[in-house]
Amino acid sequence: MTDVGKRECPSCAMTVDAEADVCPVCGYEFPENRTGFGPMAWLFVALMLLPVLWVLMRLL
Ligand SMILES: [Zn+2]
Repeated sequence: MTDVGKRECPSCAMTVDAEADVCPVCGYEFPENRTGFGPMAWLFVALMLLPVLWVLMRLL
């Protein structure tokens, strides 16, 4: 089952609110991972990798 809006604390293995920045049970600070790798970031990575793939194709 998938508990949307919840996540497991890696420190105490308790299920806590996904919106919580700090675990209310043990005080573990969750790393910021909500802002960052959105679709635009993946697009950027793909654009960066395209020239590399092109060079690799030329070498093979
Ligand atoms: Zn915890």
